[in-house]
Amino acid sequence: MTRSLTLPDESATEQFGRLLAQVSADLKEQPAQPGQSLPGPLAGGRIHLQGDLGAGKTHLVRALLQECGVTGRIKSPSYALLESYKVLNLYLYHLDFYRFSDPREWEDAGFKEILVNDALVLIEWPERAGKLLSDPDLLIQLEYVGNARKATLHAFTNKGVKWLDALTNLGKRCHLDLTP
Ligand code: ADP
Ligand code: MG
Repeated sequence: MTRSLTLPDESATEQFGRLLAQVSADLKEQPAQPGQSLPGPLAGGRIHLQGDLGAGKTHLVRALLQECGVTGRIKSPSYALLESYKVLNLYLYHLDFYRFSDPREWEDAGFKEILVNDALVLIEWPERAGKLLSDPDLLIQLEYVGNARKATLHAFTNKGVKWLDALTNLGKRCHLDLTP
C-alpha cells in the first residue's frame, strides 16, 4: 500500500511528524502523559526514511520524538549512528547509516537487539546498511519539489497498513492529504 503527500514547508513536515508519532506510538491524539500506559497495540515497529541530504528526514523524526514526549535537544545520529530515548515504557531508537561502511560496526554496537526489541525504530539512510535490514513496517521517501517536499509512504506489513489508514484519517482533519 502506497500513499503520498505534499509538504509545502517545514511546519507541514513537523505536523506530519506529529501525526506519525500518534499512529506509530499509538498516542491517542495527545502527547504522552505521565501515568499513561504505552505502548498501545499499534505502538512500535520500524520506519525507514530515505531522501537526499537536507530532504527533511531528521526534521521529521525530531517532530515525531517531541510528540512522543522526548524533551531537550534531539541530536542527529549522523555521527553516533544511534541515539536512544525512552518515554514511559516505549523505547525509541533513531539511527542514521549515512556514514556506515562496515557491517561489523553493526554487530559491535549490538544493533541487532534493537530490531527485536519492542521499540519504535527510525532509520535514516537504511539503504547503506545493505542486507542487514529487512523491509520495515513503513518506508518514507522524501523528495525535493522546489522548496517543498513530497513524501511517498510504502507500507510493507499489516501494522504499516494500519498506520497508513490511521494517518490518512488524521490527515484529513488538518489539511495533510494522503492520496493513493
Ligand atoms: P536530512 O535529515 O534529510 O538530511 P534535515 O532534516 O537535517 O535533512 O534538514 C532538512 C532541512 O531542510 C532543514 O534545514 C529544514 O529547515 C529545511 N526544510 C525546508 N523545507 C522543508 C520541508 N518542507 N520539510 C522539511 N525540511 C525542510
Ligand atoms: Mg538526517
